[in-house]
This record gives sequence, structure tokens and C-alpha cells, in this order.
Amino acid sequence: MTEKVIIIGSGPAGWASAIYSARANLNPVLFEGAITDDNRLKGTLPLGQLNLTTEVENYPGFPAGNLRSYLDNSIAKDKRQWMTEHSEEGVSGPELMELMRQQATNFGTKIITDDVIDIDMSSHPFKVKTLSGTEYETLAVIVATGARANYLGLESEEKFKNMGVSACAVCDGALPRYRNQPMVVVGGGDSAMEEATFLTKFGSKVYIIHRRDSFRASKIMAERALANEKIDVKWNSVVGEVLGNETEGVTGVRIHNIDDESDSEELPCTGYFAAIGHTPNTDFLHGKLETTDKGYIIWTKSHRTYTSVDGIFAAGDVADDQYRQAITAAGSGCMAALDAERWLVEKGYD
Ligand code: NAP
Repeated sequence: MTEKVIIIGSGPAGWASAIYSARANLNPVLFEGAITDDNRLKGTLPLGQLNLTTEVENYPGFPAGNLRSYLDNSIAKDKRQWMTEHSEEGVSGPELMELMRQQATNFGTKIITDDVIDIDMSSHPFKVKTLSGTEYETLAVIVATGARANYLGLESEEKFKNMGVSACAVCDGALPRYRNQPMVVVGGGDSAMEEATFLTKFGSKVYIIHRRDSFRASKIMAERALANEKIDVKWNSVVGEVLGNETEGVTGVRIHNIDDESDSEELPCTGYFAAIGHTPNTDFLHGKLETTDKGYIIWTKSHRTYTSVDGIFAAGDVADDQYRQAITAAGSGCMAALDAERWLVEKGYD
């Protein structure tokens, strides 16, 4: 059987594409990703980056308030029972993603919990190959695989992954190893501010290590972090090594001044969190779509989600190194569904 549209990815772009294409009777099949250790370590589990975040205060339609009864009656019970308690600050990332997933489900999206590992674009219909070994044929594809967190690339980072090294405070911050202990966050963007502020709930102190003397983060998030008594910023500093041992995992970091390696300091900590930006999830495309030098898929028509291969569309962070917001991802997911729908009609597949 040949599908009309396959959507790859389960962040805001994927779900918006699914909602729009389901309502256009395209019977979308959406690959939400596989639940594997590899995906957990890379930060590419189903529901994407928003599922790894806390409060979402800037997604229109969710002002601060108690959404509990709305969540209770809009999300399936088997999902709802495992969701963390609502904070009354608006909506949380995991809540927003479950709401989007449910909305796509309600309109008939077929969801498959698997990774796509390759797309054969050499002939049409395209062939989509999955990690579990199945193959699907489809007329159109929407790539909405998002982006994942970067690490500095230190050998010592790799060594202690899962033993105190992480790129997701929200996923790991509440673990016992971090309770009432000092922690380190690297970076100066919104992610670093968010992670550091979040970690102060658990740790005794949080150091932000930043390579410059000012933050890239938005003013409101930087001010919130700077006003937090548990946060100490080490400006103009870089991490040279994550310190630790086999039994305890991370025990500290060695940092030094960006201009002078001999000006160094050891900070004791049980956690090291990288918050230094993202890499688009395009490995599975094996270079078959045109990308920027940073790997982001290029839209080949201005303000359209067309890519370098006719019939393949891209939406969300995988094609956006500029805005990278939930709302822009959802918006471009809608665009991709409309583009795919019109393309199918143009090609006579309606
Ligand atoms: P980002 O804005 O690109 O910031 C990355 C930070 O890491 C920068 O401060 C950068 O330093 C630093 N950095 C990069 N490579 C480094 C290296 N090799 N060594 C040391 N430091 C390094 O990334 P982000 O913070 O992940 O944010 C990405 C997007 O998501 C932004 O648009 C942000 O607004 C959004 N976001 C929003 C929220 C929210 O609203 N709740 C939360 C998180 C993220 P320089 O500043 O020196 O370049």
C-alpha cells in the first residue's frame, strides 16, 4: 500500500503537519521515533525537545492557570496517569506535546513508534526504511525531525555520560546524585539559563560557565538566572576537563580562562550539563537533501517548505537555525502539510 504522506518527527512541527494533513483526508502516518537508549542519550526520544523542558510561557493560548481538568478530559487516561503534576504556571512542555499528540490522534493520524533510518528518493513513490526493518511507500514526506543538544566534544564528557554528564537538566536534574550538591551548566543562551534555574530546585549551587562576558540569552531569562542566589556565573571561562572516577562519576570540572589556560580553577560538582546549542537531526537523510553547512535542510522556494527533492518537505527546527521556537515549528508544520496537500493535487494524486 502506498501512503499519501509520511511525517517523520514528533515535535510541534510533526504534530501540526499531522493535524492539518489528517483533516485534509491524507491519512498521515507519523513516525514519532523509537524508544531506545541511543535516542535517550542523544535527546531524540519521541515528543522532541519540548518534552525535555519545563514551563512553556510563550506558546499562545496557554496563559498561567490551572489546566488540570482540561488535561484530564482531553488526554487519554493511559497517558495522563503518568504525566507529572501540573504546576499552574501555564502549560508544561510535556503537557503541550501530549495535547498535540492527542489532537493528531483524534483526527486519525496513524502513529508509529519507530525511527526512520533512510529514505530511498531515487524513484517515486519514495521508500521509507525504519530501524525495526519495515519499509513503507509514500507519495510525499514531511521531515520534521528537529534538532538535538550539542556537547563540547571532550573525552571526559563522553566517559561520564549517564554518570553525571547530561544535556537535559529537566530529564536528569531530580536524580539523587544531584540532590543538595553543586552542579555546572555550560553555555550562555536561553537553554543554559533555563537549565541552571531549574537545577537550583535540587542542587546546593549551580555554576554557569560561559565563554564570554555577557549572555546570549533573552533578557528576561538572563535576569531570572542572575537574580537567583544559588547561581554563580564564571564569565570568560571554558571547561577543559570533566573530573571524576568510575565509582562516583562526575566529581568536578576544571575550567580555565578563555585567553589564558594557566588561569584555571577546579569546581567540585556532581553534575555537568551542556547547554551549548543544537545539531539538526538529519543523519538519516545521508546527504540526500540539500542542507546548510551546519546541516539544516534548505527550503528551496522562498516561504515554502519545499526541499531539493520534489515531494519531500521540511518543517520545524530541522530547517530552521534562526527562530527555533515551538510556535514557529508548529507554524511551519502547518505550512508543510498545506504544501504537501497542494503538491499531491498538482501531481494528480488527489
Ligand atoms: P544558543 O542560543 O545557540 O546558545 C548557545 C550558547 O552556548 C551560547 O551562549 C554560546 O556561546 C554557547 N556555546 C556554543 N558553543 C560553545 C562551545 N563550543 N563552548 C562554549 N560555549 C559554547 O542555544 P540555546 O540556548 O540552546 O537556544 C536555542 C534556541 O532555543 C534559542 O532561540 C532560544 O531562545 C530557544 N530557547 C528558548 C527557551 C525558552 O524560551 N523557554 C528555552 C531554551 C531555548 P556564545 O554566546 O559565545 O555564542
